[in-house]
Amino acid sequence: MWLRDGSRCAFVARSGRRCAERGFLELHHVEPHAVGGEATVDNIQLRCRAHNAYEAELFYGPGKLVRGDAVVREPSAVFSYVAEPRTRSGTSDP
Ligand SMILES: [Zn+2]
Repeated sequence: MWLRDGSRCAFVARSGRRCAERGFLELHHVEPHAVGGEATVDNIQLRCRAHNAYEAELFYGPGKLVRGDAVVREPSAVFSYVAEPRTRSGTSDP
């Protein structure tokens, strides 16, 4: 996914121009996680912080602030989803 998107934001504007941001990239669900979008390579694209926030706002609406300073974001859900199976496998437990 990282290589496919060229390590930069994959947001494409209506004009056809693609964002060139390479810093502060986040994971964007094409089909939102909240409506069953899966954490798969096909469903996740890179977004810069600004465009991820922009598209989250399009779907979720503005003003979803947590503790006053953090917008609810999907990446944390992705990472917890990825991390979960490892704790269950228990390879080195006696
Ligand atoms: Zn962008």
